[in-house]
Amino acid sequence: MHPFSLVIHGGAGTILKEDMTPELEQAYLKGLQDALDAGYAVLEEGGSATNAVKAAIVILEDNLLFNAGRGSVFTKKGVQEMDAAIMDGKSLNAGAVAGVRNVRNPIELATEVMNNSNHVFLSGKGANDFAIKQGIKLEPDEFFFSQFRYDQWKAMRDSDNYSLDHTHQGLEELMKDKKFGTVGAVACDQEGNIAAATSTGGMTNKKYGRIGDSPVIGAGTYANNKTCAISCTGHGEPFICAVAAHDVSCLMEYKGLGLQEAMNEVVYKKLVSMDGEGGMIGTDAHGNTAMAFNSAGMYRGMRNSAGENHVAIYKD
Ligand code: ASP
Repeated sequence: MHPFSLVIHGGAGTILKEDMTPELEQAYLKGLQDALDAGYAVLEEGGSATNAVKAAIVILEDNLLFNAGRGSVFTKKGVQEMDAAIMDGKSLNAGAVAGVRNVRNPIELATEVMNNSNHVFLSGKGANDFAIKQGIKLEPDEFFFSQFRYDQWKAMRDSDNYSLDHTHQGLEELMKDKKFGTVGAVACDQEGNIAAATSTGGMTNKKYGRIGDSPVIGAGTYANNKTCAISCTGHGEPFICAVAAHDVSCLMEYKGLGLQEAMNEVVYKKLVSMDGEGGMIGTDAHGNTAMAFNSAGMYRGMRNSAGENHVAIYKD
């Protein structure tokens, strides 16, 4: 049997144990484990890497603790606008959506774009129209409401600032204490095919239709059976300019680096030199997995056919 594996993240940033209650910590760990189990079950039954990453992401999108789907952050206008992408490393086909509203699981919509449209990237109203046409589940605004994200937004809505998620403090702390709540998954299935997926509400108080790295193929999400599947989380703008996920693939393809080595190069050198705080998860087509983050913490988990299974939050 070909080794199979799944890695997930629930965002990176200044996540410190002293800021966490034991209850909240347990809730995050359980949320991660639930997503890991859902994706792993697909792989165990011989399902595809694309189905596995989608299954894991759906669980994280439905969990209020994470900034994706339900629980997404508020924009400057006080609504949720979500981005998501999925890529199949076997076919190099991908689907992505940006700025969608009221879509319960943006990753389902991104998958629909990949499988049932002639396009790769849809945005705004057009993406929402496509969701309706394809029968993708929509929910009213109230479904996406979470009090702590509303409070985060209230603290900054009259300013021009925007911030990166997972924080419960006021404006000053928000700006220095950066936390990112995007969710992501990468998988290698029993056929040796790999896939990556990422979903996010973006940044609190974002405006002008701002789109981050998550749905941009090659920046926040990338998969290629020849090299790796990568999902990123962090300050989207430098991740886009670094073409972070594809850069890892290039280092493997053209320079012969291993997965962890290539990720280290991008996360600890290139992104640091560009003030790109955050991290990424990866797998290759042999089922090897890796994680790297240059922030204080990253919500993360990994499970594989060799029997490894763990979830973590802080730097160990
Ligand atoms: N990368 C995401 C963005 O910039 C934020 C995050 O990772 O939480 O939209």
